Amino acid sequence: MSFVETEERRALRAAVAELGGKYGSSYYVEKARSGQKTDELWAEAGRLGYLGVNVPEEYGGGGGGIGDLAAVCEELAAAGCPLLLMVVSPAICATIIARSGTEAQRKHWLPRFADGSVKMAFAITEPDAGSNAHRITTTARRDGDGWVLNGQKTFISGVDESDAVLFVSRTQDQKGNLRPSLFIVPTAAPGFAFTPIDMEIVSPEKQFVCHLDDVRLPYDALVGDEDGGLLQLFAGLNPERIMAAAMGAGIGRLALGKATGYAASRQVFRTPIGAHQGIAHPLAAAKIELELARLMGQKAAWLYDEGDDTGAGEAANMAKYATAEAAIHCVDQAIQTHGGNGLTTEYGVGMLAGVVRLMRIAPVSREMVLNYVAQHSLGLPKSY
Ligand SMILES: Cc1cc2nc3c(=O)[nH]c(=O)nc-3n(C[C@H](O)[C@H](O)[C@H](O)COP(=O)(O)OP(=O)(O)OC[C@H]3O[C@@H](n4cnc5c(N)ncnc54)[C@H](O)[C@@H]3O)c2cc1C
Repeated sequence: MSFVETEERRALRAAVAELGGKYGSSYYVEKARSGQKTDELWAEAGRLGYLGVNVPEEYGGGGGGIGDLAAVCEELAAAGCPLLLMVVSPAICATIIARSGTEAQRKHWLPRFADGSVKMAFAITEPDAGSNAHRITTTARRDGDGWVLNGQKTFISGVDESDAVLFVSRTQDQKGNLRPSLFIVPTAAPGFAFTPIDMEIVSPEKQFVCHLDDVRLPYDALVGDEDGGLLQLFAGLNPERIMAAAMGAGIGRLALGKATGYAASRQVFRTPIGAHQGIAHPLAAAKIELELARLMGQKAAWLYDEGDDTGAGEAANMAKYATAEAAIHCVDQAIQTHGGNGLTTEYGVGMLAGVVRLMRIAPVSREMVLNYVAQHSLGLPKSY
């Protein structure tokens, strides 16, 4: 067992950190505040192969694993560019299509995910189902050679900058039971409309309510089996949690970096404020929590890349939980360390509060992770 990443992984981190440094917080915040997208960063990351590190080589990717993609996501976040669509497009959507898609779907989408020339959003959350994905009511019905989709989704990230959305829907099997199924819906499809939600998060990536109103799709819009939707969906959820953990780790590092830099230079009595244990100890504690959480994220990615989906499921949930909590503490303590400057626009610390707080809610909430661990790791009865 080695706790040191391979030389290749470390080289990847260094290269991505260099790219992230070229853009940085100011680029990201400026884009967010002016309603623009981080297109230049996305395109360059794609060109350099960073968005496709986990895509199989035969489809134009780097042939690595989710651990590599998580490293890319973490380094960009640590450089001030936490890209939500990295969690969605190259992680969830590319994984599901690589694992369950037809050869034609793989050939069409994977090279484009790899070079960053397309983006795909992912839609599971519904207004009346929320955390309970079993209650979703978006349906896909067979119609001649194709499908007709109806339903509504909410909080879907990045629809306005995506070419298509991977929708979790339900189809009826021969016994009349509704089963989860996955459909690729082009954002330009007639009958598909999306409206932005006003959010208190400083991010160039926006959230949308999606309406599917008799959206007609060809038969090959279905990803995987009509009946195997749940398993196919789960294939994308471990990468989702691993990536969310990586993004949290990056934001935590960013906040701690800003906090320690400030604590070392700011002097209001006779020593830098970082010499006061009231400032130093909470930062040290946040650093410990963050490193512990990062280890669990790396373990989850390793298990996933080794093909142990069950082990990865538990570790990915734990990593997502732990990293969100650690990152929230890092940002909160970074704000405290900066005093009033923690809430100024100039220092760029307060603006992290929204996005880091999101980590406790999405893609799976803290409570639903605790439910999972209580039930699956501790063997306690299901509470809901
Ligand atoms: C910025 C942002 C981006 C997002 N992007 C996407 C996206 O791209 N695609 C997508 O599909 N979704 C996305 N989501 C949705 C996100 O996954 C959901 O918000 C999240 O899963 C929680 O669902 P909910 O908001 O409906 O909360 P609810 O399910 O209504 O839950 C509300 C509260 O009750 C708690 N709760 C609910 N049930 C239980 C229970 N059984 N036990 C204990 N506590 C419980 C929850 O933990 C939560 O704290 C995004 C959300 C945000 C905020």
